[in-house]
Amino acid sequence: MSSFSCPHLNEKGNTCLRLKTDCVPGRKGCVLSKKFQFAVPVEERIKMQNSKEESKKIRE
Ligand code: SF4
Repeated sequence: MSSFSCPHLNEKGNTCLRLKTDCVPGRKGCVLSKKFQFAVPVEERIKMQNSKEESKKIRE
């Protein structure tokens, strides 16, 4: 079994140092885009990430 560790990942906050936004593997500009197919489409994962952030802001 292998695992992937992205050199662009800022583990504090799960952000992408390359794209200066949240890490969503496969998003446009990500080193993994066009190399892999994901079970959940990237657009759907970005929407889920955005709604998580909205919920977090409302609670703060
Ligand atoms: S979005 Fe892609 S390039 Fe950026 S940290 Fe995540 S896996 Fe790495």
